[in-house]
Amino acid sequence: MFWSDKRYHTLNFDLRSRFGCKIIKLSVDGGFTCPNRDGTLGNSGCLFCSDSGSGEFAGNRALPIREQLSQQAELLKPKWPNGKYIAYFQNFTNTYSSIEDLERKYEEALSFPEVVGIAIATRPDCLGGDVLELLSRISKKTFLWIELGLQTMHEDTAILIRRGYVLEQFEKAFEKLNSLGIKTVVHIILGLPGEDSARILDSVKYVSRLNPYGIKLHLLHILENSDLLDYYNTNPFHVLSKDEYIGLVSDSLELLNPQIVVHRITGDGSRESLFAPRWSLDKRSVLNGIDIELKRRDSWQGKFCK
Ligand code: SF4
Repeated sequence: MFWSDKRYHTLNFDLRSRFGCKIIKLSVDGGFTCPNRDGTLGNSGCLFCSDSGSGEFAGNRALPIREQLSQQAELLKPKWPNGKYIAYFQNFTNTYSSIEDLERKYEEALSFPEVVGIAIATRPDCLGGDVLELLSRISKKTFLWIELGLQTMHEDTAILIRRGYVLEQFEKAFEKLNSLGIKTVVHIILGLPGEDSARILDSVKYVSRLNPYGIKLHLLHILENSDLLDYYNTNPFHVLSKDEYIGLVSDSLELLNPQIVVHRITGDGSRESLFAPRWSLDKRSVLNGIDIELKRRDSWQGKFCK
């Protein structure tokens, strides 16, 4: 089973099928913070989080949202003159503010020319009733998805990485979003300390059973400016090799419900801030490696999905 030229259900395939043209995500920084960083839940954030709130390539938060979108659209226009956009609120917790502030920022993004939808990354514990009501209204008039950073289904790892919420909170938020007809994209990190391939695939199977709109598979990046590097220096743990990662992503795709849209299968670390694994900077080679491995196995997304 193929999705255009890929053996997995890519975001590009999904968006082209919906909109009939190239859809490009433009990352904006909404100027938010995170309860796991501002002292509400913690001061240091998740163990792997960087100073930029896990959004290394988002726009400049000092600029208005339309200006951030405009700058990125200008750069992409020559390559995709007929492309349309999804405004992606990527870094920190993008539902963590007053309702008025959230609505103003989302609407500002939606008012930008050729924006056909909006993607909002947040935490399951930042989806109160008023926020859900706002998101429900927005989802009725535009294409919307919400991203939730689950990272792992295992509670001991969640404590180790200072995620700051338990699995039950994630499940409740996921169910509420589902009941409102709001699409959810779930993030999983491959290579967290203490997680072998069996534990990683437990999380993949768990997400597959939930059957969200989408999934992001991230490689764990150890960034220079993160607490994870301090942890690694005092508690060295296994860092995945390129071949191990390609094998694990292929295993994950085979287990994943073919309906689930795969939004990402690598991580994006900036050249300057990435401590390890440095092989991941050659993103093209990782993506090609996954294509080659699936072909070698004569396999595809969902081949072993029960
Ligand atoms: S929830 Fe996101 S922004 Fe907040 S500390 Fe964790 S990774 Fe960083």
